[in-house]
Amino acid sequence: GGEEVVRGNGERINVSVRLRPLNGREISRHDAADWDCINDNTVVYKNANVSASDRSMYPTAYKFDRVFKPDCSTREVYEKAAKNVAISVVSGLNSSVFAYGQTSSGKTFTMTGVTEYAIADIYDYIQKHSERDFVLKFSALEIYNESVRDLLSVDSTPLRLLDDPERGTVVEKLTEETIRDWDHVIQLLSVCEAERQIGETSLNEVSSRSHQIIRLTVESSPREFTGSHNVDAFAAAVNFVDLAGSERASQANSAGTRLKEGCHINRSLLTLGTVIRKLSKGRGGHIPYRDSKLTRILQTSLGGNARTAIICTMSPARSHVEQSRNTLLFASCAK
Ligand code: ADP
Ligand code: MG
Repeated sequence: GGEEVVRGNGERINVSVRLRPLNGREISRHDAADWDCINDNTVVYKNANVSASDRSMYPTAYKFDRVFKPDCSTREVYEKAAKNVAISVVSGLNSSVFAYGQTSSGKTFTMTGVTEYAIADIYDYIQKHSERDFVLKFSALEIYNESVRDLLSVDSTPLRLLDDPERGTVVEKLTEETIRDWDHVIQLLSVCEAERQIGETSLNEVSSRSHQIIRLTVESSPREFTGSHNVDAFAAAVNFVDLAGSERASQANSAGTRLKEGCHINRSLLTLGTVIRKLSKGRGGHIPYRDSKLTRILQTSLGGNARTAIICTMSPARSHVEQSRNTLLFASCAK
């Protein structure tokens, strides 16, 4: 609740961490849940048997804007980590909400709920603000191996990115559905979910290596003069981004290993990491948006006046400690 405060330039990136419960596979192999939240802001590694060298190399406590225990609902994650960022689109600010984490850490589980709750709140807002005209447009795409595909089209021909002098990077021929009613939203979300599931069952590689972006564009104009608080016409977008598995951008590998496994490194994920680190330092300078498809598509929704939330998902399991530390390292750099 309360009035949205528009702070604009210099706004920090909202970084949160969500722990999922141990899954069936982890339980059956007697994996230990080594990570926990000790308050609303701190994740700790509580394995008492860590080696002395591990202890000297890695912190045991990590602080973020918000952390979520394994039994937290997606509703709570949305309310506390994504809502303010997503809803700012109705006041004309571009924004992005990301899920970052290793494969099977809960990115899709989290983003599916967050996306629906956010669109519901935006939809609700425009129903209540009849003093303005609003048009909602929905589009969805997937980036796999630096190739862009329309998730709302049966045609799987890769789409080209074009530079528009006014709108920035545009995805050529991307389907944009104008929202008619709430059922239409649900129908479009289920098309995206079905597309995502096809990827997951037939080719695990594809789902762990691809990025999915659901974009909701809000076009708004004043219906008539209703006082000094009126804002001119605007168009803004909120992006819901389910990223490729972070094991695809492991920073822990030595240069040699990285070279050998070059085909497994995900250019868009690596570039996103660089862009976010540079933005969070806030010192300006060259931001390499143009180095990947993902960062080109999201350029106007990252940095500048745009608002960003990153939800990092992680498994609490001992067996995943290396990937979890990488995720927390990424999250710490984004703060
Ligand atoms: P990712 O998209 O990161 O690969 P998923 O979202 O597909 O991971 O999650 C992997 C599995 O774990 C799914 O079966 C999902 O339902 C389950 N899962 C993930 N996060 C949670 C959670 N917070 N609570 C309960 N189950 C979860
Ligand atoms: Mg997924």
